Amino acid sequence: MKLIFLGAPGAGKGTLAGTVSRALKIPQISTGDIFREAVKNGTDLGGKVKGIMERGELVPDDLTVELIRERMSRPDTRGGYILDGFPRTVPQANALAEFQTIDGVINFQIPDDVVIRRLSGRRVCRSCGAIYHVDNMPPKKENVCDSCGGELYTRDDDKIEAIRNRLQVYRRQTEPLIAYYRELGLLHDIDSSESVEHSQVQIERIIHRLRS
Ligand code: AMP
Repeated sequence: MKLIFLGAPGAGKGTLAGTVSRALKIPQISTGDIFREAVKNGTDLGGKVKGIMERGELVPDDLTVELIRERMSRPDTRGGYILDGFPRTVPQANALAEFQTIDGVINFQIPDDVVIRRLSGRRVCRSCGAIYHVDNMPPKKENVCDSCGGELYTRDDDKIEAIRNRLQVYRRQTEPLIAYYRELGLLHDIDSSESVEHSQVQIERIIHRLRS
C-alpha cells in the first residue's frame, strides 16, 4: 500500500503515520524527520535546512525531491510506504509521479485554531523522536519520554510565530495538492480535529476500501 498523508502541520500526520506503518509493516517516510536528523547530526544537508526549518518555511523542491528519491530507492519501500510530509508543493507531486504510483492520499482536515493549540503543546523526545502533548498525551513524568527516558523538548518550529508562518505556507503552497489529488481520484478526506483514535478509525476504513 503506497499512501500519502496530506494535511496542515499539527493535523496528526506523524502520529498516525507511525501507528499505521507499524500495523501494515511498511515504512513511514517523513521528510521533516530526515531534515531534523540532518540538523541534529550537523551534516551538509542539516546546515542548508536549519534556518529554513526554524522559520517554518519550505526546503527548496530540488533538494527535497533528491532526498526522497534516494530514500525511496531503498528496498524497504518495495512493499509500500506512508509518505508523511511529502509532497508539499505541486512541483514535488509532479516529480513523485514520475517515479511512483500512489494508491491513495489521506487528507487530514482540521481548523487553524485546533492546529495552534495542538502544536504549541507538542513535545518531542530528543532521543527516539516519540511525540507527546502536554494536555492530550502527556508523558507519565514531566519532560521525560515514557519509551526511552530521553528528554522532551519543543521544536523551534512549534513556537507560536513559526506555527502561524507554517499555516500560511501550508495554505499557499500545499493546499493546492488537495485539488490536484482529488482530480486524480486519489483523495480521501478525514476529520482529524478530534482524537488520535477517531482519525485512526477513519483511516482504517479507507485502507480497507482501498484493499478490497
Ligand atoms: P514536518 O515535521 O513535516 O512539519 O516538517 C518540518 C519542516 O521540514 C517543514 O516546516 C519544512 O521546513 C521542512 N520540510 C519537511 N518536509 C518538506 C517538504 N516535503 N518540502 C519542503 N520542506 C519540507
